[in-house]
This record gives sequence, structure tokens and C-alpha cells, in this order.
Amino acid sequence: MTFTEKQTDPTAPTHWRGNMQADYLYPNGVAGDKFFKHLKNNDNFLATVCPDCEKIFFPPRLYCEDCFVEIPGENWIEVPATGTVRLFTTATINAHGKKMETSKTIGLIDIDKTDGAMLGIIKSSEMDKDLLGLKVKAILRPREQREGTIKDILYFEEI
Ligand SMILES: [Zn+2]
Repeated sequence: MTFTEKQTDPTAPTHWRGNMQADYLYPNGVAGDKFFKHLKNNDNFLATVCPDCEKIFFPPRLYCEDCFVEIPGENWIEVPATGTVRLFTTATINAHGKKMETSKTIGLIDIDKTDGAMLGIIKSSEMDKDLLGLKVKAILRPREQREGTIKDILYFEEI
């Protein structure tokens, strides 16, 4: 089977022996590029506000998915790099199934003054406690070390 063949029978799964080249490029897009350029030189985040419904998008978007309207450049706003933990989980094994030396807590954080959220690593003094509703702030790389990527956000810690 090649990639040009269409699989029509879902009960007949196929397999691939050997190495499969899978090159891909995942660009940030126009809004993501502006977001990360801002983050490189600032200690807060950018969001966009829909001119019709006033929904505040985080991460920023160029179009409102509810109103189908373009969000103009003057509707970009700065928002604090703080938020509230909505969901979290603690990983004790890595992607290869091996126990990690130290567990890692990952959370979905509602970003303050926006209607959006992002995933982030959470560090707290009491990692065994319920982190739901915990107020956190983003800890960023030192400004001179930032690359304008998601890696500039090191983790979130309890305020
Ligand atoms: Zn809207």
C-alpha cells in the first residue's frame, strides 16, 4: 500500500515496515508569530478582542469563530501572565513508560482577563494538594535568553 491508495475497509488495517519519513513544519501563523515576538520582549501575554461579541481570545486569533468577523489590529490587548488552574494531572512516568525521578504536574490554566486557556507545567510548594482554582503566574525565561517560542514560558507557579 502507498499513501496514494485509499483505505475503504476500516476492518482491514494496514501496517508499514521500516522507517517512514515524516517531515513537517508547524508554523505559528500570523497571530502566533505576533504573540511570541511580544513575549520575547515583554513579561505579559497578548490577546485579541472580537469587535462584535467582545470575546477575548487567548491565544490571540485573527477571526472570531463565533461571529465570523475579522479582528482588527487595534483589538490586540496586553493581558497579565497569570491565571487560574482549571484542570491538572500529575505524570509519574515518561512517554517511554519509565518512572521519572520527579513527577511533573501539567495543568490547563484559564488566563486572567481572557476567555482562553493554555497548558503549562505547574510548580507548587505542596504538589500533593488539590490545585483546582489555584492562582498561578507564568515564570518566564530571563529576557536575554528568550527565543520567541513557547519554551520562553518555563512553568507556572502559585502566586
Ligand atoms: Zn465575536
